[in-house]
Amino acid sequence: MGSKSDKGGTGNKGRPGRTRRAVLFGGLGVVTAAAVAGRDELGQAWWLVPGVSKPRKDGELDHAGASWTAASPANWRLADRPADYRVDRIVVHVTQGGFKSSVDAFKNPFHRASAHYIVGQDGHIEQMVRELDVAFHSGNRSMNERSVGIEHVGFVNRPQDFTDAMYEASARLAADVCRRYGIPADRKHFLGHSEVPGADHTDPGRHWDWGRYLRMVNEAGAAGPQKA
Ligand SMILES: [Zn+2]
Repeated sequence: MGSKSDKGGTGNKGRPGRTRRAVLFGGLGVVTAAAVAGRDELGQAWWLVPGVSKPRKDGELDHAGASWTAASPANWRLADRPADYRVDRIVVHVTQGGFKSSVDAFKNPFHRASAHYIVGQDGHIEQMVRELDVAFHSGNRSMNERSVGIEHVGFVNRPQDFTDAMYEASARLAADVCRRYGIPADRKHFLGHSEVPGADHTDPGRHWDWGRYLRMVNEAGAAGPQKA
């Protein structure tokens, strides 16, 4: 699960005492900057300009094997990856809760955390944040910006929670992510939440079989793109 400490760029909209004039002027500032600066100079803010961000539809999926439930917009940040942030890491999590409570947590606007995917013990995959966007899953802003977060339903101290079906589904999902962004399936590019700099979480814990998982990701990658 993500940490509550990562509030990642929710902005200062609606700040008390801010006048309407200031809001208008602020808005003009963005448009002027966009008109003057090229997309590269504007860097990671270019998509803030109205009409520039890529069109997207609610319910659109990145992984053919997934279902969709939208996380609350309070739990992630609009972006346009990999155009604005390079995606080169996958962060592995364990939910410390059941499937439904994890989905409900990400739908809850007060939870302040989400992940792109939740993988169940039966191999079901729920996507809750588009890979275009920054999910708040690792408690580290720059890691969130460069990574896809995958939650696995279970508890770190229960090895029986990490089922064959879960490993297989997650490996196919991760292989798909790796293929689309050109990420090598190795321990440099795959991190546990506990390995993220500054993390105060222990997931996925010592029962997560990294050797097995990465072998399966590489096998799934060699087998080619996943079909629905
Ligand atoms: Zn976690």
